[in-house]
Amino acid sequence: MRFLCLKNVSIKWKLFFFLLLFCSVLLAVLWIFQVVLLDSIYKNIKIGEVKNSATAIVSNIGNDNLKTLVDRISSENDVCIEIITQNGQNVYTSHILPDCIIHRMAVFDKLSLYARTISEGGELLEYYDRSGFRDSFYQSRDFAGRVPPNDNGLLDVIIYSRIMTNEAGEASVVLINSVVSPVSATVKTLRYELYFITAFMLIFAVVLAFIIARHVSRPIVKLTGKAAHLSAGDYDADYSVTGYKEIEKLSSTLGLAAAELDKVEHLRRELIANISHDLRTPLSLISGYAQAMRDLPGENTPENAQIIVDEVERLTALVGDVLNLSKLQSGVQSLNVSLYSLTQNVMQMITRLNELVRKDGYLIELLPCDDIYVHADESRISQAVYNLLTNAVNYTGEDKRVYVCLFRKDGRVWLEVRDTGEGIPDENITHIWERYYRSESNHKRAVTGSGLGLSIVKQIITMHGGEYGVISALGEGSTFYFNLPI
Ligand code: ADP
Repeated sequence: MRFLCLKNVSIKWKLFFFLLLFCSVLLAVLWIFQVVLLDSIYKNIKIGEVKNSATAIVSNIGNDNLKTLVDRISSENDVCIEIITQNGQNVYTSHILPDCIIHRMAVFDKLSLYARTISEGGELLEYYDRSGFRDSFYQSRDFAGRVPPNDNGLLDVIIYSRIMTNEAGEASVVLINSVVSPVSATVKTLRYELYFITAFMLIFAVVLAFIIARHVSRPIVKLTGKAAHLSAGDYDADYSVTGYKEIEKLSSTLGLAAAELDKVEHLRRELIANISHDLRTPLSLISGYAQAMRDLPGENTPENAQIIVDEVERLTALVGDVLNLSKLQSGVQSLNVSLYSLTQNVMQMITRLNELVRKDGYLIELLPCDDIYVHADESRISQAVYNLLTNAVNYTGEDKRVYVCLFRKDGRVWLEVRDTGEGIPDENITHIWERYYRSESNHKRAVTGSGLGLSIVKQIITMHGGEYGVISALGEGSTFYFNLPI
C-alpha cells in the first residue's frame, strides 16, 4: 500500500488520483456484476422463481382454481408447467415456451423423471440443453443450488420436478421447465453499452477529477503563497482568498492573525522604545550621580543618594510590572482567595500613598463608606487598586485631588477612582487596557509609566470574574472602576 501514502504529492494530484480510483472501482464493480456474474445471478434468480412456483402449486393441490394458478404462474415467470399422475397421465398443462422440453418428452421419459424425483426425496433439478439432452454429469447433484458452468451456451434449460400428494393420497408430479440463461441479445446489448459507458465514464472522470482537484487545490495553493508573506513579516498583504467556506474561514483567520501580529509587532517596537527610554533615563541618572559622588567628595550628600534610591525603585517597579503581567497572563499563578475587608485594605493603601505624594501637594480621599468585605486575592486586588490610584495621581488636574468610592450595588462590590484631569479621548478608551499602550500626551507628574498598569488591572479583575471600565469626559476627568462578585 506504499503508493497510497503519496506523501510528497501535492493535494491536487492526490485528489485527482483518489477521484480516479473511486471511478475505476465503480466501473470495476459494474463490470463484475454486468459481465462476469450476470449469468450466475440470472440463473440463481430463475431457479429461485421456479422453486417458489412449485411451492405455490403444491400448496394449492386440490384447489378448484389450480388450473388458473398454473396458467398465471406460467405466463408471469415464463415457464412451462405440467402436472402428471404416477401413470403418466396429464392433469394440467401450461405451454408457453416454443422450445419447451417437457412437452416434447415421451411419456416414458416423464415416468423415468418421476422415478428419479422420488428416489431423490421428492424434489429434483436437472439441466438440459435446448434440444432436450440431459446433462448426465451434473444431474441432480446441483439440486443443492450449485450452478454448473455454462460456457458454451449448453445446459441453459432446467426441469424442476416436485412430487405432490392430494388429500386422497394420490401422488402426482409437477414439472416446471425454465430457461436459465439471459436472452443473448439482451446480454450483447448490455455488454456493448457497457463498453461505451466505461469509455465515457473514464474520460469524464479524468476531466472531472482534474477540474475538482484544481478547484479544491487552487485556493489552498494561493493561501499558502500568502501565508509565506506572513512568515516573511509582511502583515499588510491581502489575505483574502475565495473558493469555498473552509478556505474563506482560513483566509479570514489568517488575516486576523496578521492584523494581531501587526499590532503585537507595533506594540513590541513601542515597548522596546519606551522601556529603553524608561531604562536609560534612570540608569544614566544613577550612573551620573554615583560617579559625581565617587569623584567629588562635596557631592556625596544624602539628597544625591536619595535620587539614586528613587531611580532604582523606579527601575524595580518597571521590571516588576513586566514580570507581573507575564506571570498573570501565563496563568502559572492561581488566586489565593480569602475573605477580607476591602475598605480597610483600601484605607491603608491610601494612607501610605498619601504619605508619598503629599510633599507634591497631592491628596487621595476615601469617600465615606461601610466596611465592605470581599472574597478575593488580597495582594492582587491591592495591586489593581494601587495601579488605579497611581494613575489617578499621575493624571489628575490642577487641584491635585483624587477621590475613591466604595459601595455595593447589584450584588457586587464596586470601587471607583475619580480624578479631575484632562480625561481620555473616546478613540483611546478601548486601547488604554491593552498591554504597552501609553498615550502620546505627557503625564502631569514627572513619573513615567510602563504602559502595563491597566492591563494588569484588567487581568486581575477578569481572573476574579469581575468587570472593569472607565467613564471619562474631556476636560473634566476620568472615573476608573471595577466590580467584584461578593
Ligand atoms: P501608564 O504606565 O502609561 O500609566 P497604564 O496601563 O496604567 O500605563 O495606562 C495606559 C494609558 O491609559 C496611559 O498611558 C494613559 O494614557 C491612560 N490613562 C490611565 N489612567 C488614566 C487617567 N486616570 N487619566 C487619563 N488617562 C489615563
